[in-house]
Order: sequence, then structure tokens, then C-alpha cells
Amino acid sequence: MSKVLIKERIVESDVLVIGGGIAGLMAAQRAAELGADVVVAEKSNTRFSGSGATGNDHFLCYIPEIHGSDVEPIINEFQLGQQGGLRHRSFIRTWLLQSEEIVKLWDRWGIPMKFDGKYEFGGHAFPGNPMYHIHYAGKNQKQILTEQAVKSGATIINRVSCYDLITDKGNVIGALGVNTREDEIVIFKAKTVILGTGSAIRIYPASNTPAWMFNTRLSPSCVGDGRAMAYRAGAEIVNIEIPVFRCGPAYFSRAGKATWAGVLRGPDGKAVGPFVSEPSNKYGDPVVDAYQDIFMDFKKSGRGPVYMDCNGLSDDGMKTMHYWLENEGNVGFLDHLADEGIDPRENPVEFRSYHRELFPRGGVFYDETGASSLHGLFAAGDELFGGISGAAIFGWIAGENAAKMSRNEGMPSFEKVSDTVTEFKTQIEGLRNRKGGPDWKEANILLQQIMYDFTGQVRSESLLRAGLLAIRRLKQKAHSGLCASNPHELSRCMEVFNMLDVGELIFLGADERKETRGKHIRTDYPFTNPLMSKLLVIRQEDRKPVLEWRSIDH
Ligand SMILES: Cc1cc2nc3c(=O)[nH]c(=O)nc-3n(C[C@H](O)[C@H](O)[C@H](O)COP(=O)(O)OP(=O)(O)OC[C@H]3O[C@@H](n4cnc5c(N)ncnc54)[C@H](O)[C@@H]3O)c2cc1C
Repeated sequence: MSKVLIKERIVESDVLVIGGGIAGLMAAQRAAELGADVVVAEKSNTRFSGSGATGNDHFLCYIPEIHGSDVEPIINEFQLGQQGGLRHRSFIRTWLLQSEEIVKLWDRWGIPMKFDGKYEFGGHAFPGNPMYHIHYAGKNQKQILTEQAVKSGATIINRVSCYDLITDKGNVIGALGVNTREDEIVIFKAKTVILGTGSAIRIYPASNTPAWMFNTRLSPSCVGDGRAMAYRAGAEIVNIEIPVFRCGPAYFSRAGKATWAGVLRGPDGKAVGPFVSEPSNKYGDPVVDAYQDIFMDFKKSGRGPVYMDCNGLSDDGMKTMHYWLENEGNVGFLDHLADEGIDPRENPVEFRSYHRELFPRGGVFYDETGASSLHGLFAAGDELFGGISGAAIFGWIAGENAAKMSRNEGMPSFEKVSDTVTEFKTQIEGLRNRKGGPDWKEANILLQQIMYDFTGQVRSESLLRAGLLAIRRLKQKAHSGLCASNPHELSRCMEVFNMLDVGELIFLGADERKETRGKHIRTDYPFTNPLMSKLLVIRQEDRKPVLEWRSIDH
């Protein structure tokens, strides 16, 4: 067989946005409308990519005409909720204060943010407490945001997966990617770079069908590439060791629990939580927002399974629930119910925690201007956390600040990056021309096994140290042995390398955090230590990890 030759393409821009999800497209549009020359590099196709690919329906926001002029009570409520506690108040304040503007913009662009002419609040709230998530019809959001970004002048390059950042004396000056369809590397030279690569899925096994890697609750294209490349470039990564898992229908992974209007009940028909006893489109059943282990605890104590029971929901209530689930990208699941003739009022749907499918809560440490700790590098969205609203708002903010910064920077010269490019090309040629060996799937599955077995639901010093050795061995073997028989497999190999780096950081952070916090469960340190209510920051210096504790500064 003849040797595979790898072409090179050079792309220059003021602002490079890596990842054309919600944050990336918002960043691209804002930077372009401020006059920057913007390129978006997307591994898939921005019209249908990322966790917002098929729609979402809850948008976190503060609307003064409804909530009153004081934002502080909403910040308090936020800090008590699923996402609270990780960021200081000024970050949350910036987010909430900009949310109304973005809601209005989306509505103007054609993403319906109102229902019957008014804001409809629902889900992610406990009865009696302030509600701060509106329902919106996000089914076509990716197509609309793509058109908006293109209209404002951004160039979108689909099917290019970025692997690494290029730096010069600590400044980020571009990135390297691979074409997922052709044997080509793409060298991006940019004055500023924005990371918007989303969450970090597929590092742990899919919960419902562990042997099938792509039945995941969030987009399986989001594997933590941004976190890995930011770390290798020297940026700060924060709280990567604290994992999260969520729940949903059994065997059919899908986010969107807060849109279900039923009550979670045991086989005896009794509600499993204290918050609701009748179906309600307004609240659904918020028990899992407060008590994530409920499914497992019911199972262990002989009281499971737990069902989402919509019995008692009116026809109008059912229509409303269907409408929002359709907008939330749950069409496949609704079609399945219809095919099987299942009405969740008559046949409650079993719900489970997706407890194997852990994903890191933390990520690239960006501040309320979207800036990371490296000059020239910004980040937004699920690179750290925030759902749709956080992605939209911090994407917008990051785009604005990257555009402003790029006005004062010159275009980096090619000489500065030539060694890095040569090294990258050699790595790619090696993967494409190696004769025989394991493929990316074998490495990805082994990574998932190591992660779940050694730093999954149970963690201890001895497990973490053994797991770290295993992952380092796998990393070394993967880099020296993986084969890619086409450009698609090549991009999957690059994902695996990134996931291995993120996995290693999880081990290091989990070992350092000698306490139990949320789903970071240390059997050797079984309680939450108030003195560790801090951020754990990891960065690379001289190719070695440096860990540092920092106060959250409420
Ligand atoms: C079914 C479902 C329902 C949900 N419902 C809600 C909801 O109602 N409300 C809410 O707040 N959240 C919801 N979420 C979560 C929400 O979709 C995410 O939080 C949000 O999309 C994050 O935006 P992001 O821009 O950070 O990442 P994404 O929108 O996931 O975009 C990341 C993009 O980066 C691309 N990418 C990744 N790596 C690379 C790389 N190396 N090179 C190039 N491109 C790359 C991906 O292909 C993707 O396009 C839901 C998720 C799902 C799956």
C-alpha cells in the first residue's frame, strides 16, 4: 500500500472560534459584527452539532419586569441549584444581568422565547421559590444561529476537528486541526482564539448501553478537546475532579428531565419525593434536582424501579409537554413511544440515574470577560459550565472581548509555528501509515473502563494511584500504537488522545481533593471538608502538572 500523504491548509483570522455550538456561534457573531475577521472551526456541521443540535427548551434568565429590580435573590436561588457553588457572585451577576438582552435578541432572530405572547417559566425550581428558567422553542436554534453568524461575516469551516493550540511565549496564536473527511491538516493562525468545544462526554462509559459509546445524554462529539488543548498550552483548568451525572429514561439516554411533567413514583404508586403529588407542567418533579441518588437508593432498598408517571395530566398538559420535549431534541424518544403505542399516562416510563456516565463539572477556567489565564485565549459555555444560557451569554461576551483584543495584536508569523506544525504532521502521518494495530475504539473503551473502575463512583487514594498508572500506560501505548485507516478514524484517535489527557487530570485532581464533595466520593475521606470549599486549579508548567487551591471569593 502506498504511503498516505497529508496535505496542509493555512487559515488566518483575527479571531478563531473552536467549536460551532451555542457558545461558539454567539461568539463568532459578536466578534464579526464588531469588525473582526472571524473563522469558526467545527468538527461536525454547525447546523446540527453539539448538545444543542436538536434543540433545547430551558433558558436561565433574569427578567427585571418579572423578577423585580433586585437581581440578588435570583443569584441566591442559583447558588442553591444544580449548578451553584462553583463560581463567585460577580460571575453569576454578569450572566444574569445580560440574560434579558440575549433573550430578546434570540426572539428577534426567530427563536421563539415566549409562549402565547408571554414568558413561560417552568422546571428546575422548587414550589414556592423564584423561577428563573423560561421555556423556549429551540428546535431550530442551530440553523438560526449559524445563519446569524454567517450574516455578520463569520466564515464557518465544518468537518475540521481541532486538536492543539499553538503558543508563542505563553500567548495563544492559533491552533492545529485535522480534516475529518480528507487527509489534510489545517493550520489556523489567529490573533485570538475562543474555545467553545462544549462538555466532556465519552471519557466515562455510556450509562444505559456501556458497550455502545454513542447513546449518551449530551453530544458524543463533545469529549473535552478544549480542556485538553488548553491544559497542554498552559491554561488553568479548574475543579475537573468533581464529577456530575444526571438522569432520564432507562436505556434511551436523553437530557431533558425538567420538561417531563409527571411525578416520579415507585411501583407502589407513591411519589418518591416530597415536592409534588400531581403532574404539573410548571414544576415537573424537582426531586432529582435535590436528590440525585434517589434511583439507586430505591433500587438498593428494594423499593425500585422509579417511574415518571404522567397519569392525571390533562390532554392539554400532554400536548404542552410534547411540544417542549420536541423543542428539546427529544423527538427520537417521542417517536419511539408512539411506535410502541406507549402513553406515559397509562404506562409510566422508567427513569434512572445515568450514574456511569459521569462527566467533569469543571473545565477551562474563564472569568466573566470570557478570558482564560492565557493571553489570547478565551472560553465559553460548557468548557466550564452553564447550559444554554451560560453558553449564549458568555459566548457573546467572549466574542466581544476577543474582537477588541485582536485589534491590538499583529498576525503571528509562520516561522513561529513551523516546528509545531512539523511535529503535528509527523504524528498524523504516523497514525495514518502504521501497519496494523489497535483502533481508537479499543483505546476509548479501555479508557472508559479505567475511569469508571478507578475514579468512578468510589474513589480512594489506593484506587486513584493504581488508576493513574493504568491511564498513563494506556496513554503511552495509544500514542505509539493506534492506527487510523481513514480521516474519520484519525479524528477519533485525536479525540482519544485528548480524553486521555483529561482523564489523567481527573485522577490528579481527585487524589488532591481529600474530601467527599457531591459525586466526588472518597471512601478514605468520607465527609465534605468546609476548608476545601475551594477551587482546585491545575495547570502545566515545564510539562508537569501544578495543582493550586484557590478561594471562590463569594
Ligand atoms: C437533549 C438535550 C436537552 C438539553 N436541554 C437543555 C435545556 O433545556 N437548557 C439548558 O440550559 N441546557 C440544555 N442542554 C444542555 C445544553 O445543550 C448545553 O449546555 C449547551 O449546548 C452547551 O453549549 P456549548 O456551546 O458550550 O456546547 P455545544 O453546544 O455542545 O457545542 C460544542 C461544539 O463544539 C464542537 N466541537 C467539539 N470539539 C471540537 C473540536 N475539537 N474541534 C472543533 N469543534 C469541536 C462540537 O461538535 C459542538 O458543535 C440539553 C442538552 C441535550 C443534549
